[in-house]
Amino acid sequence: MKEFDYVIIGGGCSGLSLAYELEIHKKLENKTLVIIEPRNEYKRDKTWSFWKTIDHNFSDCVIKSWNNFSIQTSTKSKDVKCDNFQYQSIDSGLFYRKINEKLKKNKNIFFSKDIKGVDTNSSFIFNSLPTFKKNHNDLWQHFYGVEIETQNSLFNDSTVNLMDFNCEQRNSVHFFYILPFQKNKALIETTWLSKGNNDSLKDYDNQIKDYISNRLKIDNYKITYKEEGSIPLFYPLNIKEKNKINIGTAGGMTRISTGYTFLNIQAQSKYIRKNIDNIKSSRIFKIKAKYKYLDKIFLKVLENNSQKMPGIFFEMFNTSSDSAIKFLSNKSSIFDDLSIILKMPKWIFIKAIFGK
Ligand SMILES: Cc1cc2nc3c(=O)[nH]c(=O)nc-3n(C[C@H](O)[C@H](O)[C@H](O)COP(=O)(O)OP(=O)(O)OC[C@H]3O[C@@H](n4cnc5c(N)ncnc54)[C@H](O)[C@@H]3O)c2cc1C
Repeated sequence: MKEFDYVIIGGGCSGLSLAYELEIHKKLENKTLVIIEPRNEYKRDKTWSFWKTIDHNFSDCVIKSWNNFSIQTSTKSKDVKCDNFQYQSIDSGLFYRKINEKLKKNKNIFFSKDIKGVDTNSSFIFNSLPTFKKNHNDLWQHFYGVEIETQNSLFNDSTVNLMDFNCEQRNSVHFFYILPFQKNKALIETTWLSKGNNDSLKDYDNQIKDYISNRLKIDNYKITYKEEGSIPLFYPLNIKEKNKINIGTAGGMTRISTGYTFLNIQAQSKYIRKNIDNIKSSRIFKIKAKYKYLDKIFLKVLENNSQKMPGIFFEMFNTSSDSAIKFLSNKSSIFDDLSIILKMPKWIFIKAIFGK
């Protein structure tokens, strides 16, 4: 059995982000690391998007940055400027390649498909495999997207369509999301916020086809890429073990009101790298308690008032866009928080706070 100073379980977004952060800050010159990852090959499987509220290591993996986004309900539409915090999309294929090329150059970094041959007794473990308690009432954000190319220039490539709620809701919360990478190329996703056991919402292909032809009025297009996923809108179990910490989704890095995780993973990686020499005694990096509290209330409102959610999301951006973005990216001041809270319908939030 081989021994290593550090073991990273899962070479996905958080595992690789952490390994890269340690490597570029020369924390693996005298330490050994093994990354446990079962996949046979890395290819583009996700498009990570976020408002750039902090610096990250992957500006060369950004497909596109935008200064505008829009949101629509069946009755209203709003264009929002985000010059101070551009909306960015990262191509996971470029991200995996950049990191793996860098890590392969360090002889102290090893890769293994499973943990069987690794003696972890004296290692420190960073685990990115979440443990979920099976509960059919938990909410998930689940989605399916296709990247399409058209012959003519049909997309406004200066504006992301963040949420288009002008579509059937089926007693859940449903919107389409469009990332226009070029005037003739966009990723179009159908996104649902619902309980995980509702398979009747997963006729994704039909939803996408219908949206492209009837809402976007596009008939001729070629599909160049597809992605599908689901993000838990609840926290995985946090089982405390000696010499082991959870990272990424497993480590509670997802904002459960929105699913945004990528930049939190980058912040967590930086924090771990700064504290790596005393990692056993360092406090655990967490999303601030105020966001966890507000997100739980928000999701309670969502569960009980799905038909009101398009209007509620719309109102969130009816305040200063910087405040809304900072709030959704865990960077808000008390004034930003208040400006969002005051826009929310009071009575249904009060009922949610008191558990009604
Ligand atoms: C399709 C998709 C799109 C997303 N888009 C966004 C977005 O736009 N913005 C955003 O902020 N967040 C987004 N997220 C949420 C979040 O950023 C991602 O889920 C992110 O990949 C989470 O990183 P992670 O390291 O926790 O998990 P992962 O990236 O899933 O990494 C876990 C790794 O563990 C490996 N693994 C599996 N089984 C084992 C095993 N038995 N032993 C060892 N390793 C194993 C997997 O192969 C994988 O590589 C998206 C999620 C999905 C699924």
